[in-house]
Parts: sequence; C-alpha cells; structure tokens
Amino acid sequence: MTKITIIGGGPGGYVAAIRSAQLGGQVTLIEKNKLGGTCLNVGCIPTKALLHSAEILEEARHAEQFGIKLDVKGFDWGAVLSKKNAVVSQLVGGVSGLMKKNKIAVIQGTAKIDNVSSVSVSTAQGVQKIAGDKIIIASGSVPAVPPIPGIKDNPFCIDSTGALSLEKVPQDMVVIGGGVIGIELAMLYSIFGTKATIIEALPKLLPMMDGELTAILKDLLIKRGIKIITEAKVVSVENGAQKAKVNVEIAGKKEVFETEKVLTAVGRRTDTESLGLDAAGIKHDRGRIIAGGDMQTNIKGIYAIGDCLGKVMLAHTASAQGEIAAENALGHNEKYDGKTCPSCVYTIPEFAGVGLTEEEAKAEKIDYTVGKFPLLANGKSLISNNGIGMVKVILGKEYNEVLGAHILGPRATDIIGECALAIGMEAAFEDIAAVIHAHPTITEAVREAFLASQKRAIHF
Ligand code: FAD
Ligand code: NAD
Repeated sequence: MTKITIIGGGPGGYVAAIRSAQLGGQVTLIEKNKLGGTCLNVGCIPTKALLHSAEILEEARHAEQFGIKLDVKGFDWGAVLSKKNAVVSQLVGGVSGLMKKNKIAVIQGTAKIDNVSSVSVSTAQGVQKIAGDKIIIASGSVPAVPPIPGIKDNPFCIDSTGALSLEKVPQDMVVIGGGVIGIELAMLYSIFGTKATIIEALPKLLPMMDGELTAILKDLLIKRGIKIITEAKVVSVENGAQKAKVNVEIAGKKEVFETEKVLTAVGRRTDTESLGLDAAGIKHDRGRIIAGGDMQTNIKGIYAIGDCLGKVMLAHTASAQGEIAAENALGHNEKYDGKTCPSCVYTIPEFAGVGLTEEEAKAEKIDYTVGKFPLLANGKSLISNNGIGMVKVILGKEYNEVLGAHILGPRATDIIGECALAIGMEAAFEDIAAVIHAHPTITEAVREAFLASQKRAIHF
C-alpha cells in the first residue's frame, strides 16, 4: 500500500486525501490549524454566509417594490455572525467525518519535510516522524501585509480574517485593494450601513475579469454609495483617538481619509515558511512552490497544489489540482488543465467568467466574435433584479468555438458552469444553440448571447 502524507487540510489537501484513499493509498493528513483550511474557516464559506444575510436584508428593504409590506427592524449583527459560525462549524465537522469515512489519519501539528520519505510534525506532545512514500503539499496562503507605514500591528487595521468577525459593524471602512476580497467585503459592509471607500492602485478593479462587465459592476457599486478611487497610492496610516487617518496620494495630490477600520485586501502570500523547502531541496520562487502540470515538484514523489503555488488562488483550483496530484502519486498519469476554471465574485448581482476575456483575446491577437445579451431583455432577470446585468460571450471567428463567457447577473456563479462545460467539451456556437434552455430562466440569456454573436438573438 502506497503511503501518502498530505500537508494541509484545506480544499486542496482534504480533497487530495480523499482521492488518494479512494485509489487505495494509506493516507495521513497533517493540519496545523483547522480542517477546511482558509476556504471553510476564514474564506469562501464565511464570506458567502455573511453576504447571504446581507442579501436577505437588502431584499427585505426593497420588498415593497414587489408588493410586500415589511416592517424591517434592522439586523442583529451577533445573530448574523452566529449563523455564519454555525455554517462553518457544520462544514468543518463534515470534513472531519469524511476523513473518518475514508480512513484517513489526521494529525494536528505543523509539518516540516525532511525528504520524500519522512515528514517531522511538531505536535502538542512533541515531534512525531511520519514515514511515507509520497508527499502532497497543500499548505495554502495567508493575507499579504503591504509595506505601508502604520499598518502592521495597528488595532484600526484588519485583514480579511479580522473582517469576518468584527464585534460591530463599523461606521466607515477604507478598503485597500479593489480585488475580489475588497469588493465582496466592501459590498457586504455597505449593505449593513458602513460607508466604504475602496482604494485601488491600478486603473481598473478586478484586473482578471472582463473589463466591460467590470465597468458596469463599478457603476453599481458607486450607486450603492461605495466610493471607488483607482490609480491611488496609500502612503501611510496614522492613528487618531477614535479613528485612523489614511494618507492617500491621488493624481499627485494628498488626501486624508478618517476611518474606523482599514481593511487590507491586496492579495495573499503562500504559507510555506514552516515546510523547510530549501533544506528539502524543493524549488520555489520566493515561497511559491514550483510544480509542473502533473503537480509534481522538482523532487520526484513530492507534489504541490493550490494556493501554495502562488498562482490561481481559488478553492476549486486547489481541489482540482488535489485530485490530479493524488492520481499521479498513485501511479496514474494526469495533467491539470485550468481552461475550464471559472472566476466568481459574489457581489449583488453576481459576476462570473470563464475562459478568455475580450482583453485577453485581443492581447493574444485571436480573431474573435463577441455576443452580448442585456438582462433587461430576460424575463427571469426582470422578475428578480429589474434586469440589471449582461451576458457576454467570446467565440473564435473561424470555427465559432467557445473561448470565453462572462455573466453579470443573478445566479451568475451557478450559471457559469454551463459555459465551463462548453469550453471543456470544445463546444461551438451550434452546440449551445441546439440546446433547449428552460423558460423562464437566466440561462436563456446565455443562449441568447451566443445567438447574438451570429446576429440571431431573438429577444433583443
Ligand atoms: P488553504 O485553504 O489555505 O489550506 C491550507 C491549510 O494548510 C491551512 O489549513 C493551514 O493551516 C495548513 N498548513 C499550512 N502550513 C502547514 C504546515 N506546515 N503543517 C500543517 N498544516 C499546514 N476561493 C474560491 O474559490 N471561492 C471563493 O468564494 C473564495 N472566497 C474567499 C474569501 C476570502 C476572504 C479568502 C481569504 C479566500 C477566498 N477564496 C475563495 C480562496 C480560497 O479560500 C483558497 O483559494 C483556498 O482555500 C485554497 O485552498 P488550499 O487547500 O490550497 O489552501
Ligand atoms: P486580488 O489579487 O484579487 O486583489 C488585490 C488588489 O489589490 C489588486 O487589484 C491590486 O491591484 C490591489 N493592490 C495591491 N497592492 C495595493 C496597494 N498597495 N494599494 C492599493 N491597491 C493595491 O487579492 P485579494 O482580493 O486580496 O484576494 C486574494 C485571493 O483570494 C485572490 O487571489 C482570489 O483568488 C481569492 N479570493 C477569491 C474569491 C472568490 O472566488 N469569490 C473571493 C475572495 C478571495
């Protein structure tokens, strides 16, 4: 029986552990903190649980539009946090149950790699040596702290983890970074009443998403009262008696923002310091482990997956790579292919994309066609969110193959699955057009966007 040691119990590590066990491996998983990793404890799940409460509050506030008279008394922040914590606990418990079901030994401690056949684990009871045949590293990432004077160890400054457990909703919040975390959390707190200001260094929010739809989302955020300042540099943070002062340089001029909380959301760094990479001879680029498409590092039998690679930091990427690493560690020959990997932003409305953006198609000098369909012309969207949003698809000009799809609208993060499948199956316009989409659904807008690429849209 091949002995597999897995370092990290996040969506990369625990999925790799289950797949390894399914393939007949004898699996030991080492976790220094909590099973479920960033995703379940301080990432995907708690943010989306809080955003769901925000969405309910928002719907209740606007119920009258739909003919419903509600007396909305406000919210109980403590209860909102309790609901989030309950979902997290249930899912973490679920992972623990899956470990038992698959006969995976879980060790609580910090792992350091000696060599491919040995891992030393510092536990509460002392150092334990784990002997094995293969290792899968899934040690994840932690919030990056920008080198801005005054941020480190400042009680007014929080990262995403702090933002998920604030004792009370702050009056105001300056968010440094207009990426996914910055936008999701700015929206969340603004719905609960915080005056949020996003300060982004680059000219555009969400650099990896389609620019045209991002611009629509930006306008929606501004309409909600979120202040967005791009091409700006936070110079320093100083403390006042009740609030922090954030000194920002905007187009060469200095502006000061007084705020109760400063949230830093400028990306994440890999959590690889405790692994002993250099001593074990594992190649890395400033802590980002280097692995091939088979997820193997330069050391035969040692694999690395997920956030610790410092590339695409998404839970579903970590899990997909975890399955590939497990297969290869147990004698198969699989390669990771990220072309079907969707990017999702859980705003209201949701924003999701898969494949090439129009900017990428242009940069790669691809001859492409675009199809767009506004959700104003989609019945289901008109019913649920007044028709705000758009579907945009990118196809190759010669063969009409699906290259990318981008959706801003209700349930975009669920609907994008159809487009990912289309890319995975190398589908073309004709394949999507031939599929009957149920009515009334927002998925109809996806087909309509494809029809629009051939100037055949029915409802627009
Ligand atoms: P992690 O989940 O970080 O797990 C790594 C684990 O390894 C940790 O539990 C850590 O304690 C453990 N570990 C580290 N070093 C050692 C060691 N030496 N010994 C033992 N254990 C060790 N992604 C999405 O796809 N969708 C989302 O909606 C989403 N929302 C997010 C929201 C926030 C606020 C944040 C911060 C992230 C979000 N992400 C989201 C990203 C997602 O959480 C990560 O991409 C994902 O958790 C990465 O999985 P992983 O297994 O590689 O690492
Ligand atoms: P990010 O890379 O998405 O965005 C960081 C933003 O901060 C960028 O736009 C960058 O230009 C900006 N920035 C960097 N330094 C700055 C500075 N000094 N001043 C102003 N702006 C600055 O990173 P994130 O939002 O911290 O998220 C981290 C990771 O977590 C992401 O890689 C993402 O994949 C993952 N995540 C995913 C989801 C999701 O899938 N819905 C949600 C949250 C987080």
